Amino acid sequence: FVPAREAQKAGLYPYFHALETGQDTEVLIGGKKTIMIGSNNYLGLTSDPRVVGAAIEALEKYGSGCSGSRYLNGTLVLHHELENELGRFLGKEACLTFSTGFISNLGIISAICGRNDYVVCDKENHASIYDAIRLSYATMVRYEHDDMQDLEEVLKNIPEDKGKLIVTDGVFSMGGDICNLPEIVRLAKKYNARVMVDDAHAIGVLGANGRGTAEHFGLEKEVDIIMGTFSKSLASLGGYMAASENVVHYVKHVSRPFIFSASIPPANAASALKSLRILQEEPERVQNLMRIANYMRDGFKRLNIPIGASETPIIPVFTYENERTFIITRLLLERGVFINPVVAPAVPAGQCILRTSYTATHTEEQMNRALDAFHEVFSSVPAHDAQTIV
Ligand code: PMP
Repeated sequence: FVPAREAQKAGLYPYFHALETGQDTEVLIGGKKTIMIGSNNYLGLTSDPRVVGAAIEALEKYGSGCSGSRYLNGTLVLHHELENELGRFLGKEACLTFSTGFISNLGIISAICGRNDYVVCDKENHASIYDAIRLSYATMVRYEHDDMQDLEEVLKNIPEDKGKLIVTDGVFSMGGDICNLPEIVRLAKKYNARVMVDDAHAIGVLGANGRGTAEHFGLEKEVDIIMGTFSKSLASLGGYMAASENVVHYVKHVSRPFIFSASIPPANAASALKSLRILQEEPERVQNLMRIANYMRDGFKRLNIPIGASETPIIPVFTYENERTFIITRLLLERGVFINPVVAPAVPAGQCILRTSYTATHTEEQMNRALDAFHEVFSSVPAHDAQTIV
C-alpha cells in the first residue's frame, strides 16, 4: 500500500497507535494524555463501572468463551435475553445477534438475497455491505450518494419481477450525514423494494430514545431490517439484525456467517446488554452527545476550520491533500488530540478528511483544549504550505 510506505518513510505514519489505557474521552498514547475524538464510543459506556461489572459477572458465571456456533452448542440464556430486549427496544418482532457488525451484514444480505435479486446500494455505504452483496451473488446496483433522483432511476431500470433490497447506512460512517429515509421508504413502496438500514452509527445517537434513524424520522414500521453493531454505542463487540419473526427465522437457518462462526463471548454479550439497559434508563446521554457535537461544530465554524455538513457526532474536517492530512494528524497528536485521518483511496484524491467523533461524556474543558489545538495547527499549516512544515 504505497501511501502507507510513503508516510512511514516521512515519519508521518498515523495508524495503529497503541493506547495504554481503555477507550475513553482521554487516553494515554506513548505515556502522553491525549483527548480522544476519534472513537465510536458514543455514549461513553466502555469504561462505565456498571458495564465492566456486568462483563466480569458473566465471565465468572459462564466462563471466557462459547466455543461454538449459536446454532449448535454456543447459545447462552444471555444471548436470548440480549436479543429479546434489543428486539423490543427497536420495535421489531425478532432480533438475531452475530459475532461482529461486519459479519452481521455478510450474514443478513447473503442469506436473504440471491442470484435473481438486486441490491440497491448508496455509493458511500460501509465496506461490509459491499462485501455482503458480493457474497450473496445478487446484482449490485449503486446510486450516487444521497441522490434520490438517481435512486429512482436505478429502481426504474430493474425488471419488475426481480427481488429488490435497498440498503443504506443510517448515518454515513465518514461524512456523518443522515440518509434520506423518508424518500427511500417512499421509493421502496413505489417500486416494491424492501429496505435495510445499517444503523451502526445511529443506535444510541439518533432519535429521542436513541433507537436510531427510523426513530429519528418516525418511520420505525417502514424499515424492514435494522442492522447494527455492539462495538460503538453499546460498548462491546458483536452485531445484530432486528426484523419480522419470519425473516429472522429464515436468516438463522440459512446464513453461513451466522451458522459457521462462534457466538459472542459471555462478557461481550453481558456488556452489550448492560449498555442497552443504561441507554434505556438514561436517554439524556443521547441529548448530551448531540449537545457536545453541536458545541464542536460551532467551535470549528467560529475558527473557520472547514467541516462537512453533518448533524451527528461524526464531524469530518477537510484537509484535502494526503500529505497535509498526515502532517496535521501528527501535529494534533503532538498537542494531545487523537483523530482519524482518512486519505485517498478511501476518499477521492484531494478530498481527504480528519474524521472526528464525540462521546457523551466529553467535558467542556476537553472540547476547548481540542479546539485550541485545531486552531493552532490549522493556522500553522495553510493548504498551500504543507511541505515547509515537516
Ligand atoms: N457498518 C458500519 C456503517 C460501520 O461503520 C461498521 C464499523 N466501522 C460496521 C458496519 C462493522 O461493525 P463492526 O466493527 O462491529 O464489525
